[in-house]
Amino acid sequence: MAHATDLILSSSSRLLTLYSPPPLQNAHQLPLPPGSLVSAIAADSSDNTQTLFPFLDSDATAPTRLLLLLLKRVVSGVQPTGSIHLGNYLGAIKNWVTLQDTYETLFFIVDLHAITLPYDVQELRKATRDTAALYLACGVDISKASVFVQSHVRAHVELMWLLSSSTPIGWLQKMTQFKEKSRKEGGENASVSLLTYPVLMAADILLYKSDFVPVGEDQKQHLELARDLAQRVNNLYGGRKWKKLGGRGGSIFKIPEPLIPQVGARVMSLTDGLSKMSKSAPSDQSRINLLDSKDLIADKIKRCKTDSFAGLEFDNAERPECNNLLSVYQIVSGKTKEEVMEECKDTSWGTFKPLLADAVIEHLSPIQVRYEEITAEAAYLDKVLSEGADRATEIAESTIHNLKQAMGFYL
Ligand code: ATP
Ligand code: MG
Repeated sequence: MAHATDLILSSSSRLLTLYSPPPLQNAHQLPLPPGSLVSAIAADSSDNTQTLFPFLDSDATAPTRLLLLLLKRVVSGVQPTGSIHLGNYLGAIKNWVTLQDTYETLFFIVDLHAITLPYDVQELRKATRDTAALYLACGVDISKASVFVQSHVRAHVELMWLLSSSTPIGWLQKMTQFKEKSRKEGGENASVSLLTYPVLMAADILLYKSDFVPVGEDQKQHLELARDLAQRVNNLYGGRKWKKLGGRGGSIFKIPEPLIPQVGARVMSLTDGLSKMSKSAPSDQSRINLLDSKDLIADKIKRCKTDSFAGLEFDNAERPECNNLLSVYQIVSGKTKEEVMEECKDTSWGTFKPLLADAVIEHLSPIQVRYEEITAEAAYLDKVLSEGADRATEIAESTIHNLKQAMGFYL
């Protein structure tokens, strides 16, 4: 249901400031040149608005339509496999908290991705809830973002199947993650879902017509595939062919852009500065989990791999561990790279390790406190996830409708 919307264009600051009542409650600031107003209106058609925002009344006011069209959308998710670690946090979740102020955001727990490798059935449910609670504990705010479980929105799987028919096997076989993970699984024994994982990820993104997808370096290749697939499906089924079938015509999918953080995009393992910190790495010593106790964090950092060079420095290819630990220190302490360089250039590992441990503990401590509060009230999380799934389903269903129509299904 749309409400009256105020819209103020400040041409002098070249900023468009938008205020909207629920369901988009927050003030959003988008860096837009004044001219984009005109193109946004021109790009609008009532059909398009209904497709993108099905909760709107068809008689929604023009400013409301414009407002919603201007809000760029961001989606992202983490697998509920094992514990959320510092890499997931610095590479993904921490950045979501900033993005939710500027974009319409949907953050989900990608449980369907978590079954592509052998997994613990007894643990999946708990890991899913824990991951959702950690999103909130890290600062994801449900008055701004939709938080939900991927498998609660069935359209993810449906879209994956529809997209699979347009995905060449060769595209999937050359994915680095597939090659690495399938080798570990013994080649031919790896599941089909490990191969088709990127198609599900493309569905996760394209379902919501996302403009941006915040990812760590490791997911860049998969995002590229999602972009190629969107383009391919648009070419195969969109435009005039779709119009002939009674559709809107034009592109079915938006082409999403990656958002890769400058620091923290690739947090490395504590035991090997050349491998990324990962939930699925067998050794727990290799990562700092967000819920690790203070003592465990201090112990892991104390025992982490270092080198025998004098002083500490960034960007020396021969010192991957040093670069990684300084980068982590930089982010969790909130200092600039220059400040860290200056502070640590003559520091020994013996002095730096407790400093890093304290900074990590101090950064994670409020997150751990909030996590305890959130999980203490079981019904709260269920409500959050159910509302998030409802909102996501509304958007997702319109995409499925469009694609099925364009693919010639009998609707
Ligand atoms: P798995 O080993 O099971 O694949 P993972 O640790 O790679 O787990 P994912 O759930 O695959 O975690 O990824 C969730 C998000 O975290 C993605 O956006 C991914 O890019 C990001 N991410 C994962 N590992 C790192 C890392 N070491 N540094 C920075 N970002 C990371
Ligand atoms: Mg991963």
